[in-house]
Amino acid sequence: MDSNCIFCKIINKEIPSKLIYEDNDFFAMLDIAPATKGHVLILPKEHASTLTDLSDDKASKILVLAKKIIVAMKKVHGFTDYNIVQNNGELAGQTVSHYHLHLIPRYSKGELGLWTPHEGDPSVTDENAEAVRNLLK
Ligand code: AMP
Ligand code: ZN
Repeated sequence: MDSNCIFCKIINKEIPSKLIYEDNDFFAMLDIAPATKGHVLILPKEHASTLTDLSDDKASKILVLAKKIIVAMKKVHGFTDYNIVQNNGELAGQTVSHYHLHLIPRYSKGELGLWTPHEGDPSVTDENAEAVRNLLK
């Protein structure tokens, strides 16, 4: 628990939220400013800022939980398509420094722009790709 973290306070029930799901490891709630109807956030109860700070155990479990919650949301809200978004760091748009997954239902085309696609990035050289591959060996 980080005493300065709003999501830790929500998990601790010091700040109210619209709870969707809770177990020993995770807490899911409606986003206070939803991108679309039903937008849910899943938070690990352990405080971690970004993916690389999160334990492998929670990282490996969170997508399975996302799937379970999406199945329930689909039945209630009637959507078929959705985005799972997760921002890491200020440049990536993260505004709350407690790791969370966004589950965002999609009801129509063009209602939400998440990013603008670009064709290839010329500054990524074959050497860069090779260096990343080598670090993963
Ligand atoms: P991010 O920009 O990826 O860090 O996402 C933070 C999300 O948290 C935003 O979508 C906010 O609307 C949401 N948020 C911030 N404060 C609260 C809160 N008290 N209850 C629910 N959602 C919140
Ligand atoms: Zn926290």
